[in-house]
Amino acid sequence: MDKIIMKTPLVEMDGDEMTRIIWKMIKDILLLPYIDLKTEYYDLGLEYRNETNDQVTIDSAEATKKYGVAVKCATITPNAARMTEYNLKEMWKSPNGTIRALLDGTVFRSPILVKGITPYIPTWTKPICIARHAYGDVYKNTEMIVEKGCKAELCVTNADGTETRDIIFDFKNSDGIIQGMHNLDSSISSFARACFNYALDQKLDLWFATKDTISKKYDHTFKDIFAEIFENEYKEKFDAAGIEYFYTLIDDAVARVIRSNGGYIWACKNYDGDVMSDMIATAFGSLAMMTSVLVSPEGIYEYEAAHGTVQRHYYKHLKGEETSTNSVATLFAWTGALRKRGELDETPELCAFADKLEKATIDTIESGIMTGDLYLLSTLENKTKVNTEDFLKAVNERLKELL
Ligand code: NAP
Ligand code: MG
Repeated sequence: MDKIIMKTPLVEMDGDEMTRIIWKMIKDILLLPYIDLKTEYYDLGLEYRNETNDQVTIDSAEATKKYGVAVKCATITPNAARMTEYNLKEMWKSPNGTIRALLDGTVFRSPILVKGITPYIPTWTKPICIARHAYGDVYKNTEMIVEKGCKAELCVTNADGTETRDIIFDFKNSDGIIQGMHNLDSSISSFARACFNYALDQKLDLWFATKDTISKKYDHTFKDIFAEIFENEYKEKFDAAGIEYFYTLIDDAVARVIRSNGGYIWACKNYDGDVMSDMIATAFGSLAMMTSVLVSPEGIYEYEAAHGTVQRHYYKHLKGEETSTNSVATLFAWTGALRKRGELDETPELCAFADKLEKATIDTIESGIMTGDLYLLSTLENKTKVNTEDFLKAVNERLKELL
């Protein structure tokens, strides 16, 4: 069989530890034999980030803006322990944070469902995709401890120097606490557009929820910006695609999510998204089966796995011990990116290959061949635990039958 031709390169962002090992295995076993793989390679492994003073991260984000589609391996976010382990010049920032800021992007996380791994909510038969607004609110707040006898006010210094004030609370009878936070109309608008675009891309309904009945200015602004952008820019496109934008109160949304069958995108404010994405990931069964895609308001896509570098497995691997690390989310990052590249370049062979590789992966697990993490969860009767590499080889056997 001839190798599938790619017209435009993918931006390839390599990473760290066990996921770096998996990255190479996926390419060698499942991609290079079938695709004339064109990538523009950026090494985001911590050593090279340190060597380039993190310039490589910025360059990779700029390349993503240029080409439109990237695939990223998990990377280490340095902490004190990593400073010594890698002899770092500085505690470099999270590459994901840097890339997200440069692309002004929103992260969408979706679980991959397979037979044998039942969500804790068994009626969730379709994925629930969470979109988290990753700017502002309590994550960029200012807090103070206030002593009894003090009065706290909100004060805005206007452009002409005058002040607008409002009382927060008069702490006459007790010590207490206050908190100030903000968001930006521009950031909320980018978030809204990223969500509407991704809903159209995935042909999924979009849900959004805030506490606008209590927070009549702050949360209500989120509701209003979403409503206005939807009416002016997306309503007709949603009608044509047969999908819906649905707004409700956050507590009503939580109740509906639990009663639902899944199959929609749930857009969340920053804190709601932080909390709910962990709940959804856990309820669907495994972090190793969670994919993640960063989407910019202009429609630039960066695909990755939601999990980290699986450090414990890496140290076993370094000692020469066998590992059974789940490569599915990283593999789906590649298929997501290849399919998107195929759509943009109008190379349907590439999209078809991505579909078949995903099917081969799911079929392999549903036939009972799986890595250790899934082996512990699966209710299949005949199941076999395989090592990291043998799982990918088993996927390849299935893939050959489908091609
Ligand atoms: P992690 O790498 O996601 O791993 C946490 C634990 O979850 C693992 O020890 C493993 O459990 C299990 N696990 C996660 N992915 C798995 C997989 N593919 N197959 C099998 N088991 C899997 O998170 P972490 O240990 O907190 O972080 C490690 C490094 O990753 C850190 O340096 C962090 O900065 C980085 N990180 C990067 C990203 C990113 O690039 N997007 C995201 C999160 C964390 P067992 O050990 O019990 O088998
Ligand atoms: Mg969280």
